[in-house]
Amino acid sequence: MFEGAAMRFLIILMVLALVGPIDAAAQAPATLLRPARVFDGVDPRPHEGWAVLVRGDRIEAAGADVAAPPDARVIELPGMTLMPGLIEGHSHLFLHPYDETSWDDQVLREPLALRTARAVAQARATLMAGFTTVRDLGTEGAGYADVGLRDAIERGIVPGPRMLVATRALVATGSYGPRTADAEAPLLGAEEADGPSLVAATRRQIGGGADVVKFYADYRWRPGEESRPTFTVEEMRAATEVAHAAGRTVAAHASSPEGMRRAILAGVDTIEHGNAGTPETFRLMREHGTALCPTLAATDAIARYRGWTGTGTEPDAVREKRTSFAAALAAGVTLCMGGDAGVYAHGDNAREMELMVDYGMRPADVLVAATSGNARAFGIGDRIGAIRPGMVADLVAVEGDPTREIAAVREVRMVMKDGVLVRLPD
Ligand SMILES: [Zn+2]
Repeated sequence: MFEGAAMRFLIILMVLALVGPIDAAAQAPATLLRPARVFDGVDPRPHEGWAVLVRGDRIEAAGADVAAPPDARVIELPGMTLMPGLIEGHSHLFLHPYDETSWDDQVLREPLALRTARAVAQARATLMAGFTTVRDLGTEGAGYADVGLRDAIERGIVPGPRMLVATRALVATGSYGPRTADAEAPLLGAEEADGPSLVAATRRQIGGGADVVKFYADYRWRPGEESRPTFTVEEMRAATEVAHAAGRTVAAHASSPEGMRRAILAGVDTIEHGNAGTPETFRLMREHGTALCPTLAATDAIARYRGWTGTGTEPDAVREKRTSFAAALAAGVTLCMGGDAGVYAHGDNAREMELMVDYGMRPADVLVAATSGNARAFGIGDRIGAIRPGMVADLVAVEGDPTREIAAVREVRMVMKDGVLVRLPD
């Protein structure tokens, strides 16, 4: 029966056409990573003897009995811990350490091209240190240059971490810096806006490329003053509503109890710094599910720039930070890992993790915060932050076991981003 044979042939062709693309996808390059142990980003206990299979830009399998397919490249990582790419929760890639150049001078005197070129180098340093994602919270006078850097990294033009950017960030009129002799000149560190103009500016920044909206809920109104509230709850609530409707998260700079309280009630997702937070403030954060990004390393760095050597009596700012961090921990607030990198060197991002341990957190909990915790708080937990089948293959191998000794996060031997090895095992 010729007709039947022709029909069978046609059916075979159709099946081949259907299977073809699936088969091609299965042929994406595979890599099997065999470390001593895997920290998966969620479980605080590492898994001894696990292997992780990567195919294309995704994790295909992870476990004790994962074997290498015939086409896989096998990378042995003896003695090392493999973990999800680390996530820096608070960076400024367009700033460099303040003991090199003051913040005022960076904003007022450094040309945009110089700042951008430096940001490119700093992005690379961050990635090589094992931080495959950063939430970059404001260019501080460099306009929307972070959007361009983010996109250049995404297109593979320059190496760097995946960036969630805040563009210019938002401040209340007259409340930020740098200050010049002209009281009427715009403050160049961020975009000034209030009331309805705050809502418009939020929309403008989102339209301009912001992944996250950042505003300052309090600040020093004059140099030398303590931080006092800037925006009203209503102003911040309106901006937050606009950001959330656009699928963006909101980060609020706040150090004072009242600034924090207003930001929490406005519905922001994270509070940055929280220096003078009280047990009551942190209870409110816990109730509202607001996460804290404590930036311990920024306070530590600034104290050292002012002459503290790290020994002897701690400066008031450092002591206050220890106290408020302990109170946040005790209240069960979700803690992000974000140090305000830029105040100190990019690539030295582990500094915040070490201080979190020094100030009372278990190393494994700090690692969870820096991976799945940050990913969830920043709205990207469905794609990154954990070693699970289907997740993006952002992976870092370090010498030793950072769940026991946090300093091991500095001993980076391999970095993979989107399934591509960007730093090979030594
Ligand atoms: Zn900052």
